[in-house]
Amino acid sequence: MIKENLFGKTLSELQEVVIKIGLQKFVAKQLTDWMYKKRIRSFEEMHNLSKQTREKLAESYDISYTTSTSIQESVDGTKKYLFPVKPHQFIETAYIPEGDRATLCVSSQVGCKMGCLFCMTGKQGFQGDLSSGEILNQIFNIPEFEKLTNVVYMGMGEPFDNLDEVLKSIEILTSDYGLGWSPKRITVSTIGIIPAMKRFLNQSKANLAISLHNPFEDERKKLMPIESVYHLTKLLDEIRSFEFSGQRRISFEYIMFKGENDQQRHINELARILNGIKCRINLIRFHPIPNVPLESSSNETISRFQVGLKRKGIITTIRASRGEDIFAACGLLSTKELVKRQKNEDY
Ligand code: SF4
Repeated sequence: MIKENLFGKTLSELQEVVIKIGLQKFVAKQLTDWMYKKRIRSFEEMHNLSKQTREKLAESYDISYTTSTSIQESVDGTKKYLFPVKPHQFIETAYIPEGDRATLCVSSQVGCKMGCLFCMTGKQGFQGDLSSGEILNQIFNIPEFEKLTNVVYMGMGEPFDNLDEVLKSIEILTSDYGLGWSPKRITVSTIGIIPAMKRFLNQSKANLAISLHNPFEDERKKLMPIESVYHLTKLLDEIRSFEFSGQRRISFEYIMFKGENDQQRHINELARILNGIKCRINLIRFHPIPNVPLESSSNETISRFQVGLKRKGIITTIRASRGEDIFAACGLLSTKELVKRQKNEDY
């Protein structure tokens, strides 16, 4: 019998579980203490639970973790972890140390449905959603767990296409019963699925990053098919109507493609459409991928673009490229080849 994994369940879900098997409701809180605060990996180690309670839980449930099966390390210190999820399904997670910050870039899906032209994960197609436990496993189960200062949902997949599980994982990271992190340490990136974005903004306090990449809708559509469904104008209207109070930040990711989105008219249009939104733009060098007719803008063009946006009063940073030699950089995560290899080995 395959036992249901309790790791990744929220406090209210655990309360339902314990009540269902005839245990007291407070056992759920004890479970969150052991799993999320003390990071204990078996019921036997939960000393304040009676033997009978532990046995009852172990009859139908477990709290298993998955360890990474491969680690690649870049010359710049970035590490890429490979986690098996289900048979023939793998995800990648990138650990990026930088001065006194240590950021983990987590995946939310195996592959992705969204088909953005410039993205290796998009080329892989979609194999499945990750559960909250599978998302959190990437965070809890790396040797650098204690060093982490930030988590970004920018790995494989579109987080807002798997919003329920993403929200549960954020709840566990930020709530008192979980890790108790400030939501400021978490950023979720989206290409702009508007209904899910509205839910996210209302149900969490984590930061939001929008993959923008081109301010002109007809040009953006060629890079990102989502533009045909949720238009940029509507997306920005929604963002404008939301009260970004307190410390919550919104940023726009902008990958720079030579001759495609790096001209003065793009600077002018960005300034026009973002007018009135307190935000930051992150410029990102493009990492070429096979069979895609796009090149990166030169470093000089990227610097000029940054100056142009700053002149328009927009806070603009150039994101340092990290882990390119191990294919951990932005847009390069993919486990497609591995899936093919494994399947061939099985036959
Ligand atoms: S950029 Fe994001 S949403 Fe687009 S295909 Fe890649 S993973 Fe999916």
